[in-house]
This record gives sequence, C-alpha cells and structure tokens, in this order.
Amino acid sequence: MKGIYRVLFFIAAGGLIILGCISNAEKTTAKGFGAAHHVSVGSGRAEMESDSAAYVPEADGGSVPVLCYHQIRDWTPKDSKTAKVYIVPVANFKAEMKILHDKGYHSISPDQLIAHLQHGAPLPSKPIMITLDDADESQYSVGLPELDKAGFKATFYVMTVVLNRPKYFSRAQVKELNDKGHTIGCHTWDHHMVTKYTEADWVKQVVKPRAELEKIIGKPVMYFAYPFGLWNPAAVSHIKQYGFTAAFSLAGKADHEAPMYTLKRQIVDGNWNAEQMMKYIEHIEKGK
Ligand SMILES: [Zn+2]
Repeated sequence: MKGIYRVLFFIAAGGLIILGCISNAEKTTAKGFGAAHHVSVGSGRAEMESDSAAYVPEADGGSVPVLCYHQIRDWTPKDSKTAKVYIVPVANFKAEMKILHDKGYHSISPDQLIAHLQHGAPLPSKPIMITLDDADESQYSVGLPELDKAGFKATFYVMTVVLNRPKYFSRAQVKELNDKGHTIGCHTWDHHMVTKYTEADWVKQVVKPRAELEKIIGKPVMYFAYPFGLWNPAAVSHIKQYGFTAAFSLAGKADHEAPMYTLKRQIVDGNWNAEQMMKYIEHIEKGK
C-alpha cells in the first residue's frame, strides 16, 4: 500500500479546503469490482499488509451488497476521468434506484445488517444497503426524491465541517433525513484519514463531530465510515473504544479480527449504467 493518496477534489467553501472522498485506493477499487472483492489491491488497511488473513465472507457483510455514493449530478467538462467515478449522473442514479425497486430489493439499515451478521437476525428478501458520503447537497435535492420513490432508506455519512455551507447539507437537512427514517453516520470533521491521527485529532475528528451530529438528530450516532475507506488497527481500536457499533471501509478485505469495524462497501461508479450495477450486486450475492 503506497502511502500517497492523491486527493482529487479540493472544495473551497468559506475559506476552508475540504478533502473529498477520493483517493488512488478508491480509484483502483472502483474499477473491476471482481478483482477488488477477492484481491487485496485497494485494501482499506493502510500502512500494512493484510494478505495473510483468511477470507471471511461474513466479515465483508456476507452476501448483502453495500453501495456507496458521493455526488449525484451531471458531469461537466471540468470533471476529470477519475472524478467521474465518484459523480453519478442524475439519470444514472434514477435508473439505479428504479431497477433496484423493480427487481424487488429492500433497503436495510446498518442496525439490520449488524443484527443479521452478529445474531443471524432475519433480513427482508433481496436486501441492499445504500450509503451516501460527505454531506453533498445533491444527495438531498436529487437523491432523496429517488430514494423516496423507490421506498428506500439510506445511510448518510456526514462530515460536519461542511454543514450549513453552500453545496452541502444544512443541519436542518441532516435532522430531516434522520426524522424520515434514514441513518446518520459519522464521517469525521474534515475528512482527514484516520491512520494519521494523534489523540487530539481523534477528539477533533470523531468525538466532537459525533457529538454534534447527536445534538442535531437527538439520538446516538452508532456508525462510522473511514475517510477514503482507509483504516489501520489503531483506528479500529479507537472506533471500538468510542462505542460505535460498526465502521465501514470501501473495497478490500474486512479484518478477520474486527470484521464489524472494517465492513466493505462498493462505490457505484459514475460510468456504470444500471445493468452494470446489477452485475456487481449479483456478483456479491453469489459470493455467499
Ligand atoms: Zn468521504
């Protein structure tokens, strides 16, 4: 795992430089999902190898696909080839939610997924988990109506530094999403990768932002998503210590010692059409 992650989104908002959810690791894994599912290329574990760990299907969320979205908007000429992986055109997102609905999928919450993985709690038929990262406003203005049409509930991993800033969620929108039955998860304060945190950083990036989200929604925030999908054992230890129920990475193997804190997700590539997304989903389902 190379220690260099080229950040591709620099979003200036009110003088702040905010790093979006994009890195070389994610770029690698967003392409060729078949390889990503079984090979350690793009593993979320930073700064160490994890090849020796035995593959544990349950640790990857079993056969339940967990989708990950960022921006939902049409591409512009300024969008790079790599950025387009993370920007799902509006028509694509609409088609993806529609095909999931038409094929009889049922969205599940992280609570349902964890209860299933830990205790074998039953899930609805054709379960799928839909997650959206970084509090991008398009998820509310474009994504939410499509989720509603399909009858789906999603999980929103919110970085708090952007709240109430242009092009991002307002605090009221976060509350509304929670009140409508969606899950709000913590995604740090400003998206720095957890593998480099000092103790003070943990407070700034996780303890305080989580408390802020809890104040906004009026209930505990129990789920965390690693920025860039990257984690290391020290990070897992902190997330556990803070009492989160589970944490999500991106592609790569889950850690066999802490499977609930390294749950795998898959970025739905902006270049995919709905049929390609279904191929990925069926690939995961067959991996049972
Ligand atoms: Zn992110």
